[in-house]
Amino acid sequence: MFLKRIDLIGFKSFADKTTLEFSPGLTAVVGPNGSGKSNVADAIRWVLGEQSAKSLRGNRMEDVIFAGSETRRAVNFCEVSLTLDNEDGHLPVSYKEVNITRRVYRSGESEYLLNRQPCRLKDILELFMDSGLGRESYSIIGQGRIEEMLSTHPEDRRGPFEDAAGIVKFKHRRKEAERK
Ligand code: ATP
Ligand code: MG
Repeated sequence: MFLKRIDLIGFKSFADKTTLEFSPGLTAVVGPNGSGKSNVADAIRWVLGEQSAKSLRGNRMEDVIFAGSETRRAVNFCEVSLTLDNEDGHLPVSYKEVNITRRVYRSGESEYLLNRQPCRLKDILELFMDSGLGRESYSIIGQGRIEEMLSTHPEDRRGPFEDAAGIVKFKHRRKEAERK
């Protein structure tokens, strides 16, 4: 599995539709301060279902929508799509290519799509559980996360190892079953 493409519309500093294409192997995103590098990483976590505005470096969820600049008006919605190559079947779905989209309006209305079909946040979270690519998994390591990993409670530190070992899904299902 690898990340093939990101499409952003109105997300943070990306007012216009922007497409970033990636190939297998190592890609580095470089640019001056404030040019939007971290916004790309935020977009990836956001489309994977991040619910905390603070961890996306904002105060409210609405802060992910382009807020306007000296020369451009603010927009009313934003959308991010990730396209993943799933030829190796790493994600437990039959699609060879997996596309996930999240869209949110200033009114607060929001939607998720899986291969262009409306789905729930839960479907997205479950799809990526144990894949190593969840919103909190070890494949996205933000600034400060390394220190956090070293200093937090052992129980929390175990999380990324459980994700890598592929048991998160089962723990999640057990918790759900216990709640019913
Ligand atoms: P650095 O090298 O300093 O880490 P960076 O390339 O990671 O910089 P980002 O943090 O991704 O930069 O981008 C910050 C820019 O994004 C700022 O100019 C900020 O004004 C802009 N920005 C963030 N949210 C919005 C928004 N909702 N609307 C418009 N612009 C935004
Ligand atoms: Mg940055």
